[in-house]
Amino acid sequence: MTALTPDTRVMPRIEAPAVLQSLIGLTREGMREALIAMGTPERQAKMRVAQLWSWIYQKGVQDFGEMTNLAKGFREELAAHFTAERPEIVALQVSQDGTRKYLLRIAGGHEVEAVYIPDENRGTLCISSQVGCTLSCTFCHTGTQKLVRNLTAGEIVAQVMVARDDLDDWPEGTGPQEGRRRITNVVLMGMGEPLYNFDNVRDAMNIVMDNEGISLSRRRITLSTSGVVPEIVRAGAEIGCLLAISFHATTDEVRDVLVPINKKWNIETLLETLKAYPRLSNSERITFEYVMLKGVNDSDEDAHRLVRLISGIPAKINLIPFNPWPGSPYERSSWGRIEGFAEIVNEAGYASPVRTPRGEDIMAACGQLKSASEKIRKSALKKAKI
Ligand code: SAH
Ligand code: SF4
Repeated sequence: MTALTPDTRVMPRIEAPAVLQSLIGLTREGMREALIAMGTPERQAKMRVAQLWSWIYQKGVQDFGEMTNLAKGFREELAAHFTAERPEIVALQVSQDGTRKYLLRIAGGHEVEAVYIPDENRGTLCISSQVGCTLSCTFCHTGTQKLVRNLTAGEIVAQVMVARDDLDDWPEGTGPQEGRRRITNVVLMGMGEPLYNFDNVRDAMNIVMDNEGISLSRRRITLSTSGVVPEIVRAGAEIGCLLAISFHATTDEVRDVLVPINKKWNIETLLETLKAYPRLSNSERITFEYVMLKGVNDSDEDAHRLVRLISGIPAKINLIPFNPWPGSPYERSSWGRIEGFAEIVNEAGYASPVRTPRGEDIMAACGQLKSASEKIRKSALKKAKI
């Protein structure tokens, strides 16, 4: 690498330009404090926060100049201190099935991916919480990449905003038909372990769920975790969204290998914790994600054990055909095997939808994130060398 990073750039005698602080992702209190630090009188700050939230999160406005109910002088001051701009879209790939994958550049030159998956009655946005992951589940491509850094709350919320921009999904846009938005659901199933970036994920989701924020119902947000037990308890208390668990195995022996965090919190401890998750009911079930790996976890015995293990927990089981990636050590179970497994789970009274791989042609399917960004980086490097 010959390019200098901003940190190493030498700028003699020129004052470094002030980096504008992003307003996206600040809690109400955080924004209030930032405005007061800028010189906003304390008695006005609360009202200004409400106005800014409305422009930023409800209308999607990025330019302070367009915030017409704010005094001109105040708008200029805001523009001198803050920004409401989003991370840049480095690449947008659209799959034959309509899935859209965004590669976003964030501070430090890092890249993260978000994926929009349109369906008949819903539009789901899958977002990332970290660049890379500290864990190393053996079937997951992200797991082969070390943790680079946690995303800030702003970078997490901004993924939703970038997708809304792209889909023209703001109230004035062409997206929402008869009041229905294009993004109806958000899942934290992209890169990273959301519960190892707890505070930022919580602050971000609280903005996404806030009626004066992005305003998506708590029940339309699903956080997927590999099973960070103490943080699951906190998530129940401090976020309150739906939960998905990367379960993937029915014995500790196998789960220790597939999801190594199991060595710290095993199946029994995890299930005990899940039983105490708040508001568990038939309408707020826990999703058990189960990746189907040929000859590893896909036998009839596994299916029977699975239903025994989760008995008493309102649950649905999401069977995920394994999505291979270059060098992956596993194979996808056959369709016949997946169907056989699903039938056993179904007969035990659990819904067991098989997750149709989406956006495979653009490597946007579960567990494939990372590869495309690496490919793009490699091709950019190649170009740079020409
Ligand atoms: N770290 C969190 C969320 C990100 S992974 C977690 O582990 O839950 C989102 C889902 O994709 C998880 O259920 C994960 O196990 C699954 N997944 C990972 N790699 C996969 C692959 N190659 N094929 C299918 N699903 C995969
Ligand atoms: Fe990390 Fe989740 Fe992949 Fe495991 S499955 S390595 S926790 S992103």
